[in-house]
Amino acid sequence: MSEELQERVEEERERASLDPEVAARRNAALRQVRQFPDPVLKTRALPVERFDDALRDEVVRMGHLMEDALGIGLAATQVGNLQRLLVYRVEQDSPVNALVNPVIEWSGDELETAEEGCLSLPRVLVEVERPVHVRVRAQDEHGEPLVIEASGLEARVIQHEMDHLDGVLILERTSRDQRKQAMRAMREAEREPERAS
Ligand code: ZN
Repeated sequence: MSEELQERVEEERERASLDPEVAARRNAALRQVRQFPDPVLKTRALPVERFDDALRDEVVRMGHLMEDALGIGLAATQVGNLQRLLVYRVEQDSPVNALVNPVIEWSGDELETAEEGCLSLPRVLVEVERPVHVRVRAQDEHGEPLVIEASGLEARVIQHEMDHLDGVLILERTSRDQRKQAMRAMREAEREPERAS
């Protein structure tokens, strides 16, 4: 299942590279996402205390940005908002999920290593080991309590986005070799900006 979903993400990215309209929309969305080494990406976000229209508007805005960028998750810190808020969607036709003040209540002993990308690190894919099963306690955008039992790709996305809320990037979750390769890829992308996706 999770492999199938990962393939779907790759297919969408492929489509973006072929369809100029999709690619233009993706690039416009990515310009609104903070890119490494923006210091805000290393900053810990603060708990949300007010569940107001501004918060709900931010959830909608982040959901659209994530979709346009062809991402499957986005943390508020990535758009320069230091609130403990994230959105994600791993199934193409399901609604966008918003988690406010998420906390990992339990994670299983089983670990899995898989490649992860990040909208704040274009062109970077590194292997990250994470628990396969997690239970997360959070609130929705109205302040109602939520408990999410997630496995596979969904669990991975939630943990990736929760790392962002603590100022942690996948570069810090991978091996030293992969980190070095990623840094080199980003330096090369900077030298050839017209080819950066
Ligand atoms: Zn990310």
